[in-house]
Amino acid sequence: MTTTPTHGAPPRFTSMDPATAEPVATFPVDDEAAVRDKAGRAREAAAWWDGLGHDGRRTRLLAWKRAMTRRRAEIIALLQRENGKVRADAVIELSVTLTHVDWAARHAHRVLRRRAMPSGPLMFNQASTLEYKPYGVIGVIGPWNYPVFTPVGSIAYALAAGNAVVFKPSEYTPACGKWLVDTFAEAVPEHPVLQLATGAGPTGAALCASGVDKIAFTGSRATGARILAACAPTLTPVLLELGGKDALVVAEDADVEAAVEAALWGGCANAGQSCTGIERVYVADAVYERFEARLTERARQIRAREDFGPITMPGQLDIIRRHVEDALARGGRALVGGPESISPPYVLGPVVLADVPEDSAALREETFGPVLVVNRVRDAQDGVRRANASEFGLGASLFARRGATALARSIRSGMVSVNDVMAFPGVPSLPFGGVGASGFGRIHGADGLKEFTVPHAVTRRR
Ligand code: NAD
Repeated sequence: MTTTPTHGAPPRFTSMDPATAEPVATFPVDDEAAVRDKAGRAREAAAWWDGLGHDGRRTRLLAWKRAMTRRRAEIIALLQRENGKVRADAVIELSVTLTHVDWAARHAHRVLRRRAMPSGPLMFNQASTLEYKPYGVIGVIGPWNYPVFTPVGSIAYALAAGNAVVFKPSEYTPACGKWLVDTFAEAVPEHPVLQLATGAGPTGAALCASGVDKIAFTGSRATGARILAACAPTLTPVLLELGGKDALVVAEDADVEAAVEAALWGGCANAGQSCTGIERVYVADAVYERFEARLTERARQIRAREDFGPITMPGQLDIIRRHVEDALARGGRALVGGPESISPPYVLGPVVLADVPEDSAALREETFGPVLVVNRVRDAQDGVRRANASEFGLGASLFARRGATALARSIRSGMVSVNDVMAFPGVPSLPFGGVGASGFGRIHGADGLKEFTVPHAVTRRR
């Protein structure tokens, strides 16, 4: 992103194609006054939107889904240009996004409707009801790595619950964010229920201070902590979807071939720039040699440009390089690639490292690139113990046959895929979110709908 001074007019910034550094789109930097104005207009629209009721909102959200589907070619092209995704990654992102809009639209009524509640033996003469009411206006602050799917995980659910939304996309992917708002305005032209605020961190900070009723943030741990502090004085509630360091545990009775393919997909999809990307692999001793040999062979066949795109943020390449060099300096082995694979703006192919000490940056911090660390463990229990040693706890994966359910339940994370990787975003009924440094609160599913509501209880003496 580059910022341009505009001699008195509000400054503007330009997003870039990470592969070519060519400009993609230019937007205003929204200051505090502009953001506050948008929050005010969203509040006016919120009353109309809430008044439509679940049926009225469902019809309009499904119209939004149809508008997105009709204009899919635009966003598939934009995801490739502004974010650097390969076409397959862009198509997957859009498909999963549409699934969530559909689910939120169709299930809000069932999850949030007003219902009679049992009153209990001491209050036998009371009639009680529970209703989930919208907050009013939700501020959604999004990242660049899934610039459509990730914010929609908050936006669609917040809207379905009856809120208006002010959305600040990442400064690296504002055009993708604008497409979401434009398609919504096409489907719901009556009132500005979904507003766009553009700019970098200061615009996000302005949104936190704009009087919105809740902030739904997806991004890094460091920014999440800043947002939490910024929202403290006004006691504005915050939902934090932060980073991850997902592990894949391969048990002694695992299907090794399937686990290798899953590790590569989980590590390389979206160039490894996924909050639930696989960055650590713990393989039981009994199958370790087979796993390492097959992973090495298959990883050599995967190439940047064809299988995954460039690294979107130039600074991320320095972090990836530091993690790889540090792991090797501490005695790790490079099975595939190494520092020489880093050729800006690409990591040319997956880097696969083995025997990396557990206190290395590559096993403790988010790498956010196509780098897999594969370590040998005694057995699946030992693998789970190491997986659980991270401060992050977003997703995790397990390949196992016997005892898979018990093992999965012992993993400290918000979500676990068994005999698969990164399966949860595609299951809209499941809550998405983590524990520890991966944040708190949930998007998606019934929990995701309730996250954007206030429970309202009424009990009446008969
Ligand atoms: P980031 O924290 O740098 O930025 C995220 C957003 O916050 C951007 O829109 C940015 O402009 C804004 N921002 C920055 N400073 C701010 C401030 N002080 N106040 C308010 N807003 C501010 O994160 P990123 O680099 O865009 O995204 C990558 C990170 O997001 C990774 O850590 C990744 O794991 C995480 N992520 C998490 C999930 C999840 O669901 N848990 C999903 C996708 C990405």
